Amino acid sequence: MMKKNLISADLVRQLSCISNLQIIDLPSDRARFSRDFYDYSPVLKSKLDECCADLVVRPSSTEAVALVAGLCRRYDIPLTLRGAGTGNYGQCVPLVGGIVMVMSELRKIRAIDSVTGAVTVESGCLLGELDMKLVASGRQLRILPSTWRSASIGGFVAGGSGGIGSVRWGFLRDPGHLLGLEIITLEEEPQKLQLDGAASEALNHAYGTNGIITSLTLATAPAVDWHEVAIDCSDWSKAVALLKCCSEAAVDLHLCSLLERRIVESIPTWSGKPNGNHRLLLLVSPDGLTTIERLAIAGDASFELLGPENLRSGNGLRELTWNHTTLHMRSLDRQWTYLQMLLPDTELEAINALNSRWGDDLLWHLEAVRSQGVQRVAALPLVRWRGIDLLEALIGDCRKTGAVIFNPHVITVEDGGLGIVDGDQVEAKKRFDPKGILNPGKLKGWSETF
Ligand code: FAD
Repeated sequence: MMKKNLISADLVRQLSCISNLQIIDLPSDRARFSRDFYDYSPVLKSKLDECCADLVVRPSSTEAVALVAGLCRRYDIPLTLRGAGTGNYGQCVPLVGGIVMVMSELRKIRAIDSVTGAVTVESGCLLGELDMKLVASGRQLRILPSTWRSASIGGFVAGGSGGIGSVRWGFLRDPGHLLGLEIITLEEEPQKLQLDGAASEALNHAYGTNGIITSLTLATAPAVDWHEVAIDCSDWSKAVALLKCCSEAAVDLHLCSLLERRIVESIPTWSGKPNGNHRLLLLVSPDGLTTIERLAIAGDASFELLGPENLRSGNGLRELTWNHTTLHMRSLDRQWTYLQMLLPDTELEAINALNSRWGDDLLWHLEAVRSQGVQRVAALPLVRWRGIDLLEALIGDCRKTGAVIFNPHVITVEDGGLGIVDGDQVEAKKRFDPKGILNPGKLKGWSETF
């Protein structure tokens, strides 16, 4: 059955009267703005392929955002926000149609505090642009996704979790990264509110279900001239030990990843040609290079300094790690999908146990991260797709080893996290979006109660 278009001619007329608002209604554009990278999951692909916005709008002022919010509220139209659409779980896919609002034209950097380094920036600003501006002021973003060139800051905070920088700074939801938000509410009369750090946390990683973020204030770090290092190691156990040893050393790192040899053989050769070894990829501060070299040699591995990062090139180590590893593997073979987990402290035991049952269906990609103040190892293994039943069996086996799964094959905020409803997120939705207009179906704690 054809889905009914929810947008009336009267609503379109009212939207057309809003200045600083582009209206996009070509079917091909509506389809394009209704997708992200959910197709990394065959499970999500089958669920989301048919979802499509009835109309797309792109505001270029916060006033226009508030007017769209007011109309959606009055006409009871679902409203789904979109940054750059690089999410992996269909976060910005409109499950029930309605309006998709693209935030990419709200992109000003409003202020960089010269004393604290905190930056206030509009939500649609691309992370790459923001980071370059910060570097010019002697600062840099603490955490970036590997999509840092194409993703927006609002989308990262509302839909992402961690990435480059997580080895030092943990995850976005750790207190201290997000210092404040400006939001537009979906109340009967939408308001523009300034939230402090504490109140902002309920909108952090809420998939845009409980408020429209128009600007964010974030803590930053002093800029460092990161150097790229590749370390090759023939023995897997020694490579894992070295990953941990480097991430626990008193050295400033921005990235500390480990790819098993079968991955190294398949991805672009930006870190050097494959040579049959497992490979660690690191971004290291200049004063830490000699220490990392010493640790590599002591760990029976070979150290190669590739030089300072060249961020203009587009083929740096950053773009071989986090979910870019999955991207490169899938560009060769679409049967690869992936999982995300925090490994137990006994990482090798867990990996060996999983290898013994799943063999070549699993390829290991590890990321050193800081979790709740402690250095840990996360894994984003490539998984050969053999159907949903085997995927669930694998997830069950991972959990048996003590791994904490962050499932990338599910739609709701809660299922992709720890599976627990966050009461503060639901409370914020009650207050800022009492009619449940924003991104319906993505916040389980709301859908199950209201
Ligand atoms: P979108 O995908 O457009 O939106 C994400 C969510 O934010 C949606 O729910 C949307 O509704 C909401 N949203 C957007 N704007 C607003 C707003 N103004 N107010 C409220 N809600 C809003 N993620 C990581 O965390 N780390 C990684 O290292 C990483 N690597 C990736 C690598 C690849 C190859 C790919 C395809 C994805 C990767 N991702 C990663 C996922 C994704 O790129 C990031 O989460 C990214 O930051 C999302 O930003 P975006 O602008 O594309 O957001």
